[in-house]
Amino acid sequence: MKALMRPRTNRDDYHTMSREQQVNLIRLRTGHNRLNAHMNRKFKLAPSPTCACGQEDQTAEHILQRCPLLDEERKEVWPSPIPLQTKLYGSRQELKKTTTFITSAGLIV
Ligand SMILES: [Zn+2]
Repeated sequence: MKALMRPRTNRDDYHTMSREQQVNLIRLRTGHNRLNAHMNRKFKLAPSPTCACGQEDQTAEHILQRCPLLDEERKEVWPSPIPLQTKLYGSRQELKKTTTFITSAGLIV
């Protein structure tokens, strides 16, 4: 009985986030999102897969790691570069930063 009461420690931290934050993270993780690359290739709903910066396809990795249009917001949340893996699968604190970035960048994923 005691073992059942113990909090699980091996759960993905994303389970502790709000529903909206979970949805955003899942969309970023799977690539099934409303970013241009997916909307254009999969549904032809975006005119082009390219990001507004014109440098490459607008994917989760692009906006989280490289898009020059989001440099300011990115530096606010991550003053030094962080691997994509950490941003999408890290601790609750890291996941929170990712959702904060998405919100402050005004992105709808
Ligand atoms: Zn871009």
